[in-house]
Amino acid sequence: MKKTIRQLSVVNKKVFMRVDFNVPLDEQRHIIDDTRIQKTLPTIRYVLEQGGAVILASHLGRPKGKRLKEFSLQPVAERLSELLQQPVTMAPDCIGEATKELVSKMKPGDIVLLENLRFHAEEEKNDPDFAKQLAALGDIGVNDAFGCCHRAHASVSGIAAFLPMVAGLLLAKEIQFLGETVTNPEHPFAAIIGGAKISDKINVIDHLLDKVDVMIIGGGMANTFLLAQGYAVGKSLVEMDKIELAKKLLQKAKQKNVHFLLPVDVTVAFNFANDSEYVVTNLNDIPQTGMILDIGTRSQAIFAEALKDMKTIIWNGPMGVFEMPHFALGTQAVAKAVADASAVSIVGGGDSLAAINQMGLADAITHISTGGGASLEYLEGKALPGIIALQD
Ligand code: ADP
Ligand code: MG
Repeated sequence: MKKTIRQLSVVNKKVFMRVDFNVPLDEQRHIIDDTRIQKTLPTIRYVLEQGGAVILASHLGRPKGKRLKEFSLQPVAERLSELLQQPVTMAPDCIGEATKELVSKMKPGDIVLLENLRFHAEEEKNDPDFAKQLAALGDIGVNDAFGCCHRAHASVSGIAAFLPMVAGLLLAKEIQFLGETVTNPEHPFAAIIGGAKISDKINVIDHLLDKVDVMIIGGGMANTFLLAQGYAVGKSLVEMDKIELAKKLLQKAKQKNVHFLLPVDVTVAFNFANDSEYVVTNLNDIPQTGMILDIGTRSQAIFAEALKDMKTIIWNGPMGVFEMPHFALGTQAVAKAVADASAVSIVGGGDSLAAINQMGLADAITHISTGGGASLEYLEGKALPGIIALQD
């Protein structure tokens, strides 16, 4: 078990907190979406309420070791100040004399936001001296940047050699669900994996086959499995170089006694467009000139039925091209089935999340993972540098 901020006393302490404030900005450097800032508020508030001071550290974009004004975290300081309704002081840099001086004057309840970590190439190089300078700013280190945990960077990994690091509230939840629940799930446990390509998620499927009772595959990646089973899939998206791998995964499922569900019917369009003509067909009748853009209606029902009595469900990747309303029905049916099940449900992946949010189902999901690349690596069973760095 990894230590969390709740297990430490932060009274009168300066808490160095690695967060993910890598928010999208428009050309005027206005924040387009502040979700990532909003998500860190509970941990920040917790430290302030407990009598600590908060030193926030993040990267923004890819300034590649250069001090570039367009990558300054200044707009984040302003938004954070509005959200918390208290001043947030922007530091001139993340290391150096002026920053040290500013931090040395902090009192309980104060917040300083350090300037972009990636203004220094040493951050991404995991440079020990740079990590040591960051560490010197705080008495306690907190990581609440799950999306950065798969990167061995100085503020995420190297820093732990100089400052005891613990999980923030957001990271603690990711560890609880993507780590502990997936490792030690309540059975029956189902995984639903979709999205465009198998190649993105091969290792996730492979790893989860060791854990799950039911594996449901949809989306573009199902096409390669169907081809591996001998079905002609017309002009559908396929990865010819992954057919052998698909066969291996099917074999592994059999050996492990995993109930492996592929679509039994598909929605086939003739153009890659929402207004394309389309048909719902059985796997034997896929038109040569068509492309599969969604699972079919019988598959929707079969997948939903399979999920009904699960105790744990993890979902990553849509069942079809859900950006086009005509080909969103499979994804919507799965989203609804996940939300309706009484299981512990975990959803990850930007597009799957978009689907859940579109349908207003977010509240019915136990845990929504924010990690992107980090979530996938965690689900592959990899040890993430940022999590290894936390105290046990
Ligand atoms: P997530 O972001 O949830 O992890 P991915 O990024 O892996 O999901 O995959 C989402 C993308 O896959 C979407 O843009 C969707 O249009 C595409 N996709 C799903 N099914 C198909 C299909 N049958 N053919 C082509 N693209 C598909
Ligand atoms: Mg995506």
